[in-house]
Amino acid sequence: MKFGRLLLALFIGFLHFPYAALAQQVESGANSAAGRQLRDNIISGGDEKAAMQTAIAYSGRLLGDGESVRLLIELDSKADFQPFYMNNPLRLVIDMSKTAFRFQEPELIEPRGLVEELRYGTMARERSRIVMSLSDPVKISAEQLQQIQQGRYLYTLDLEKINMADFERQIENQRDTVGKSGNVASKGDRLSTSSKRPGRLTIVLDPGHGGIDGGANGENNTVEKDLTLEIARILSKALKAAGPFDVFLTREEDFFMSLKERLEFTRRKRADLFISIHTDTLEQKDVRGAAVYTLSREASDELAKKLAETKNLSDVTAGLAGEEAQGVVADILDDLAARETKKFSIRFARQIINVFGSEIKLLKNPHRFAAFGVLKDPNVPSVLLELGYLSNIEDEKLLQSDKWRNKMAQHLAQAVGHFFANRVR
Ligand SMILES: [Zn+2]
Repeated sequence: MKFGRLLLALFIGFLHFPYAALAQQVESGANSAAGRQLRDNIISGGDEKAAMQTAIAYSGRLLGDGESVRLLIELDSKADFQPFYMNNPLRLVIDMSKTAFRFQEPELIEPRGLVEELRYGTMARERSRIVMSLSDPVKISAEQLQQIQQGRYLYTLDLEKINMADFERQIENQRDTVGKSGNVASKGDRLSTSSKRPGRLTIVLDPGHGGIDGGANGENNTVEKDLTLEIARILSKALKAAGPFDVFLTREEDFFMSLKERLEFTRRKRADLFISIHTDTLEQKDVRGAAVYTLSREASDELAKKLAETKNLSDVTAGLAGEEAQGVVADILDDLAARETKKFSIRFARQIINVFGSEIKLLKNPHRFAAFGVLKDPNVPSVLLELGYLSNIEDEKLLQSDKWRNKMAQHLAQAVGHFFANRVR
């Protein structure tokens, strides 16, 4: 009964308040100047073909309360929506064909009621995703995609609170279609195993985060996923100039990659060295400087432990199953090859710290370790480089400075050179 009333309220609300907004949005649709401008911007971003296949979501709203919610998305062209449920933690995930999220009033889609958190962004080159973290189990009570007029589509999704047993049954029933892990099947962007060139060494750089997972946000609104990609590109150039190195980036664009995909990429490239690049935040805003992390079952300290926990949760952020990312480090470290690899990782970490010396500001105790899922390849020496902290205003400035970036890249290339020179002996 309560729900009936709510539906009525939603319905009236939809007719009433959003209509003022809808009237405005006619202006912002695909056929309007604003809509064309959005599409032009995407095209001028480089890829005309991608732009034509990308739907633009220009309006999103979330209505409702702790019993039921309604999600409304308006787009300029047709998109696929495939919602599914996930547990641990409770989520409703909507897989979509490639969509550019350009919400003109993003505050209208902020979390409320059953929805505790809401994220949207790209998943892979061809896919996008909306992830809602939920306070309670839900079921989809209605779903619809309507064409309202030429160049205007409205997607509506209604969620209703249910009990846990029913929710778990839903998950069981959807396994045939979605797969337990919630992984998106990626199309056509799988690279074949690379053949290594004789006398060359392969380095994989891993720009942290991407797509729906933005990573940390700086005091001055710098977004970690953008910084890590920009810095990885500079590093790649510096490394290629410094030695017989073939350098690959796990991602060259702003899309999401799971920890597993990052590891698979590294294995496929038969990498000799793996460097994951991050610029996270800390609670203590005065703490700054670079640090190098290596893999270990036991964490060196609380800070490293917390950092590894958040990193390992990045898959959950993007709506993948958490279990793959967690509790997997322990067994691997018993492996003999892994123990050997670990020694090399530690040696490389120390070399970076030595070379950075007084030139690149370092955190106190700059070599730390913890159970990072992304570092667990048993055959590839791997480090996670925190170049600075976006929670510190001075670090944030440095991380954006071309001068600092180039200096850091030169030093890191030197450390890589030392590492391989020593390894051969
Ligand atoms: Zn990070």
